[in-house]
Amino acid sequence: MTSPVAGAGSAPHPPDYAPVPRSALGPALNDQGYYVGRVERNLYWVTDGVYQSAFLTTPDGVVVFDAPPSIGHNLRRAVDEIAAANGVSNTVTHLVYSHHHADHAAASSLFDGDVARIGHEETRRLLLRDNDPARPAPEVTFADRYTLEVGGERAELAWHGPNHSPDNIYIHFPGHDTLMFIDVVNAGWVPIYNLNLSEDVIGYMGAPATALSYPWTHFICGHLGRLATRDDVAVHQQYIADIEASSREALASVDPVPFYVAAGENAWAGVKGHLDAVTERAAAPIIAKYTGVLAAADIEVFTTTTTFAIMQSLRLDCGPSGPVHP
Ligand SMILES: [Zn+2]
Repeated sequence: MTSPVAGAGSAPHPPDYAPVPRSALGPALNDQGYYVGRVERNLYWVTDGVYQSAFLTTPDGVVVFDAPPSIGHNLRRAVDEIAAANGVSNTVTHLVYSHHHADHAAASSLFDGDVARIGHEETRRLLLRDNDPARPAPEVTFADRYTLEVGGERAELAWHGPNHSPDNIYIHFPGHDTLMFIDVVNAGWVPIYNLNLSEDVIGYMGAPATALSYPWTHFICGHLGRLATRDDVAVHQQYIADIEASSREALASVDPVPFYVAAGENAWAGVKGHLDAVTERAAAPIIAKYTGVLAAADIEVFTTTTTFAIMQSLRLDCGPSGPVHP
């Protein structure tokens, strides 16, 4: 989520996109550039309008869930603000990683000292590999499930297989009617490039059903300015299902032969012509259907790259990749 790069001496032009539906936007930010709100009881969420974090205040200290660098020191300010208002400790004792990605974790090192870091065992492996001082590897790890109990409050951490990343976990707060699951559903918005920059397409596509299998009313999805609902997850599922169906239709109906004939000995030119035609045919009705429904659906590259990734996964993971030579 970066701004377009401006050339020397020129500002980026404001792009001419469809208005963002008001329903996709969240509460106003304060002068420091953040909003902190109660999810339920002593569970709070923080946003800078693009990224989200959460924390639990308890009699034994504060548990932080993700530390996006874009929120950065405002996470500390948000914790202090809530702790002071409620007369509870502002000492952060635990920090839970949803997954290893820097854009959700690189303010982790702001909480040092006696903080216990908790994450999936693959999060630890990846953070040791990536060796980023901003993201100390978790010392407390788990393979499938971990129950975190602090000050009489409980978070159930679970790994149900790779999706957005190999290590992305589900964080359920059974006492707060809330699920936190990052980087799959963007509340009210389309995924950015390639299914939100996801590594396992089949895992990503199946993850919302797993999220919905938990009981919850509030969903902390990691992006953008508001919390998500079960309806948001359902709309996202429909968007992905529509892309899958449209990709199957396009794969079945675009004849590859003319592209390879036209490309002559340049086989890769044939591949490009064919797959670009399939992608364009599959993505066009999705972009039309969701513009005005999901914010940024008309930024076509997001839906076309997601369509390309799903279409390739249909060929390579599901098969067939193409006809068998007679
Ligand atoms: Zn991520």
